[in-house]
Amino acid sequence: MSFDYDLFVIGGGSGGVRAGRLAAGTGAKVGLAEEFRMGGTCVIRGCVPKKLMVYASSYAEAFEDAKGYGWSVGETSFDWKKLIAAKDVEITRLEAIYAKNLGAAGADQFDARADVVDAHTVKLSSGEIFSAKHILVATGGTPFVPDIEGHEHVISSNDIFNLKEQPKRFLVVGGGYIACEFAGIMNGLGSEVTQYYRGVQVLRGFDAEVQNFVADEMRGKGIDLQVGTDVQSIVKTDDGLLVTNTHGKTLVVDQVLYATGRVPSTDGLGLENAGVKLGRKGEVLVDGYSQTNIPSIYAVGDVTDRVNLTPVAIVEGSAFVDTVFHGVPTQPDHEMIATAVFTQPEIGTVGMGEEEARTCEDIDVYKSVFRPMAHILAGKSERMLMKLIVSKASNKVLGCHIVGHAAGEMIQLAGVALKMGATKEDFDRTMAIHPTAAEELVTMKVPVGG
Ligand code: FAD
Ligand code: NDP
Repeated sequence: MSFDYDLFVIGGGSGGVRAGRLAAGTGAKVGLAEEFRMGGTCVIRGCVPKKLMVYASSYAEAFEDAKGYGWSVGETSFDWKKLIAAKDVEITRLEAIYAKNLGAAGADQFDARADVVDAHTVKLSSGEIFSAKHILVATGGTPFVPDIEGHEHVISSNDIFNLKEQPKRFLVVGGGYIACEFAGIMNGLGSEVTQYYRGVQVLRGFDAEVQNFVADEMRGKGIDLQVGTDVQSIVKTDDGLLVTNTHGKTLVVDQVLYATGRVPSTDGLGLENAGVKLGRKGEVLVDGYSQTNIPSIYAVGDVTDRVNLTPVAIVEGSAFVDTVFHGVPTQPDHEMIATAVFTQPEIGTVGMGEEEARTCEDIDVYKSVFRPMAHILAGKSERMLMKLIVSKASNKVLGCHIVGHAAGEMIQLAGVALKMGATKEDFDRTMAIHPTAAEELVTMKVPVGG
């Protein structure tokens, strides 16, 4: 049977573009449909613009720190519109690169929504219908906003990157990656930030000491972080949005950002027409090779709700191409994924937290909490946290957690060591680099309580 395409990819984000480009590179006939903008969440309204805003927000503190080093800093001011415009130029540049690379590999691109008609057919919003030997679902996820009273007045991470004005009074709801990152960004840019988190401590699932440490430092930087608190209702008034919380207290703000998780984008995609099995949240259920229960249909990235990070979507896309187009069955490796949270201070983490590790085996914990050299002349009390979780039986480092400046940069390399199975002895016999903050990682000699 002949098909219009060997592969039709639905979604031009991190996973879809990588798979489409690599598959086209093998000589396969590839089509890809993107309904919004090429590059997907990460490039257009996720990692990249977020990180640019993190950089922007760090200057207020840098100007203050500079004074301790003898600099006289003149009057400073921040222009939201200029930042958003500069960010837009960069995003448009990256979007064009994504499209160009895909085109250069020989894939056909469609600026359209695609839905699944059956196991081998997709229908585009333009009306075109194509048959494909394989279909790759790479439609990502979309923000979830609970149905609270007044939810129509709130924004999600999709909107924050394009606000016309900087909200002076800003409420963030949620305690995950996005909520904590944006609380820091908006605080750094000079907004008055309140954050409500429904649970006991933000960043659930991280090492508890990391959670507490970051929460304390966020408060220290001026964020009014209230845990055990949620929104009851939101009413629009002449003065702004009147928020009543679950303790009956009220607050008036200019914007409310809901960062309460994301759901896989499978609504109305037609996967049920092909008999593809979905999970409870609507995620596409796949095996280790990213194949669904329908042999011709695969799925990668956030739509499968495995580990929702860009590098993971990219690796899943590439493993799919190895499996299907190179004939080398390849399972993406989801073990020991290092990750960074661009909170202020930043978190870098890989492997197990202390609490999780204790449920598995006997461990030693090595910990260092210190005031980095850079903060001394700056007159800042902010500290840094480094923590190693070590197996008593094998001496292997099971987890490494860093909170502080450049934690994301450091954890990438610690991730290599842990992935290779490094032991505490390997850390100990690694010569320190002085004077750095990172040297603490190889100079912690005595376990906590030892
Ligand atoms: P996406 O990148 O979401 O791409 C899916 C694409 O499919 C979208 O472009 C969408 O428009 C398109 N689409 C959907 N349905 C259809 C359809 N029917 N037809 C055609 N097109 C369709 N990850 C990190 O690793 N580091 C970070 O710092 C980070 N920061 C983030 C910050 C924010 C605010 C957010 C929201 C996410 C962040 N992430 C980060 C997560 C990261 O963006 C995702 O894990 C990643 O983009 C997933 O890639 P994907 O290919 O699965 O999906
Ligand atoms: P997360 O799953 O990280 O956090 C969601 C938060 O919202 C949690 O604190 C959760 O609380 C809370 N929540 C969920 N439902 C409700 C509700 N009904 N009412 C009130 N609060 C609620 O999701 P995010 O949206 O922050 O981010 C999505 C994913 O994107 C992340 O998990 C991550 O994979 C990726 N990402 C990665 C980044 C990075 O690598 N730096 C940055 C940004 C996003 P509870 O804990 O109680 O469940």
